[in-house]
Amino acid sequence: MGHDHSHGAASLGARHRGRLWLALGLALTVMLVEAVASWYTGSLALLSDAAHVAGDSLGIAMALAAITAVRRDTSARDEPGAPRKPRRTFGMYRLEVLAALANTVLLFGVAGFVAFQAVTRFDDPPEVESLPMLAVAIVGLVANIVALLLLRSGAAESINVRGAYFEVLGDALGSLGVIAAAVLIWLTGWYYVDSVIAVAVALFILPRAARLGRDALRILLQHAPVGVSMSEVEDALETLDGVKEVHDLHLWTLTSGMDVATVHLALRSEADPGAVLADAQQTLAQRFGIEHTTVQIEPGGSAQTCDGPKW
Ligand SMILES: [Zn+2]
Repeated sequence: MGHDHSHGAASLGARHRGRLWLALGLALTVMLVEAVASWYTGSLALLSDAAHVAGDSLGIAMALAAITAVRRDTSARDEPGAPRKPRRTFGMYRLEVLAALANTVLLFGVAGFVAFQAVTRFDDPPEVESLPMLAVAIVGLVANIVALLLLRSGAAESINVRGAYFEVLGDALGSLGVIAAAVLIWLTGWYYVDSVIAVAVALFILPRAARLGRDALRILLQHAPVGVSMSEVEDALETLDGVKEVHDLHLWTLTSGMDVATVHLALRSEADPGAVLADAQQTLAQRFGIEHTTVQIEPGGSAQTCDGPKW
């Protein structure tokens, strides 16, 4: 079986670049329209939604930058005769994870800023032009729905696209909130609603931001990939022909879509090391989806068993 080092994770994110660019263009347009409209109508809800979309745009831009950097690095390395990058033996895959984490911090910052602005306006809510506010919010909602459709397929596959998707989803619900506020103000003249919705928009994004950050931290702390059982992997390797014992098994995720394993296999005295190695690699790749493996074969009946530190 060939050992394929051109991994799918980079192209996974790269496949969604065009859609990310479109979503970024939409988000920037909505942000500008809402910012201008919030000044014109006096609506804080529109301002908070504009701030939210600004964070959204930056999140999409960081996702694009991360995916582009990953792509560039691997393509340079995969060309025959290209200069080696000895310090970047894993390429720049982790950049995608760092972008997701920075994204989380950014979302919390935006939420805090908007909440503060809203609270300072509670004392004396100014008049709000509800009809222009309603028109702008509807335009924002339509743009959000288009962006959501663009990013939906990528959200399940790439942690980066997922981050952008959740932000746009928050924006869509934010736009719905602004629409509700505009209608209420138009019907009742109760300007307080504008500030209430502004705070709600700010608070809404936090659980999703926290979830995205947790996923990124899990990868950075090298927890075993979600959905892969350590004991199942160990059992599968132990039952291979010629394997006496399995130790030093480590599983972790390099970036979304790319899991890595290292393991030591102590062999029975009659076992063929080459055959066991091929078996082990095939089992890890086909049964558990782990294609980047390092297997240390310790031949049976010899003194070559390892005495290294055990975890
Ligand atoms: Zn060992």
